[in-house]
Amino acid sequence: MKAAEKSISFIRDLYGSQAFIPLHEPKFSGNEKRYVTETIDSTLVSSVGAFVDRFEEMMQSITGTKKSVAVVNGTSGLQVALQLVGVEPGDEVLTQALTFVATANAISYNKAHPVFLDVDLDTMGLSPKAVTAFLNENAEIRENGCYNKRTGNRIAACMPMHTFGFPVRITELVEICSQWNIPLIEDAAESLGSLVGTKPTGSFGEIGVFSFNGNKIVTSGGGGALVTGNVKLGEKAKFLTTTAKEPHTYEFVHNELGYNFRMPNLNAALACAQLENLDQFLNKKRELANIYKEFFSSMNIKFRTEDSGTKANYWLMCLELENRKERDMFLSLTNESGVMTRPIWKLMYKLPMYENCLRDRQKNAEFLEDRIVNIPSSVIGNI
Ligand SMILES: *Cc1c(COP(=O)(O)O)cnc(C)c1O
Repeated sequence: MKAAEKSISFIRDLYGSQAFIPLHEPKFSGNEKRYVTETIDSTLVSSVGAFVDRFEEMMQSITGTKKSVAVVNGTSGLQVALQLVGVEPGDEVLTQALTFVATANAISYNKAHPVFLDVDLDTMGLSPKAVTAFLNENAEIRENGCYNKRTGNRIAACMPMHTFGFPVRITELVEICSQWNIPLIEDAAESLGSLVGTKPTGSFGEIGVFSFNGNKIVTSGGGGALVTGNVKLGEKAKFLTTTAKEPHTYEFVHNELGYNFRMPNLNAALACAQLENLDQFLNKKRELANIYKEFFSSMNIKFRTEDSGTKANYWLMCLELENRKERDMFLSLTNESGVMTRPIWKLMYKLPMYENCLRDRQKNAEFLEDRIVNIPSSVIGNI
């Protein structure tokens, strides 16, 4: 396949390297070392420290929300977010099958059932049309919420995900969910810095959840953040994720089953330094996306770009190849030659723990599953 070989040498030239080229690596060229060293010097490396507060304030300001809560990783953030909006065992949660497994797992940790609905071809995220069709066919509003008439279960939340940082049709989804009285949580783990109009992803739902894992656009080593416009809900999130401890100078009073989902100060220090440079990361990602766009269009290969009216963070760049055979050929040639590429995720209902879940026809998700591959997306050079 000539196209794969040309792509390999183009990517090698871009990164100026004949060695292995990973899909995504972090960059630490700001205050990272200084802040991390500060926490060590102060001994405040763990559950107490000023960097956690600073990180939460930065997240509020970046996302334009009223309250942010730092947590140990994105997955636990999603788990708690669902609990906070009232998801209970036996409830159903609407989401997409085309996602990273953590989205579905967070639903399962609450002993709720994921319902997998199709995505849009352009956004690769939950389709408002699919949600409307499912609700019209199956749902009715009762006194205490929206119910699935067929299963008798409550539809307790909807959790769309912004795939690779490309914003989902979030304003439509918010509108539909409010009509049906369903709380909406954004899995914004991949979309820090992405915008719909001028409004940041993560700020549309009752709660938005970000990840700061090592492979995301910026990292705390491991970590996550909840954001919300609802201060009460935010305070409840802080309470639940810090072992539900009532404030007291020395007594241990815990009056609810809480979690130890705190982000350590050591990790928050790293995150603060990274967030200081978020704009530069976003600019460099966009530059790289433009370079790729030009190259791949000259090759007649479809490089995925943001939809009009939105700004993607271009966290992971992706190509849409002709069909599954072309995809497999591209994946094997690139990976064999040390340029890392990866297919989009296997759809959730193809995994053993989710094979019996409710779902609709997944025409678009299956189309994308056969064709989308991620290509090296690390920022080039220093920040
Ligand atoms: C990374 C990611 C998560 C989970 O984040 P962690 O911090 O790794 O737990 C959740 N959902 C999606 C879509 C992700 O990409």
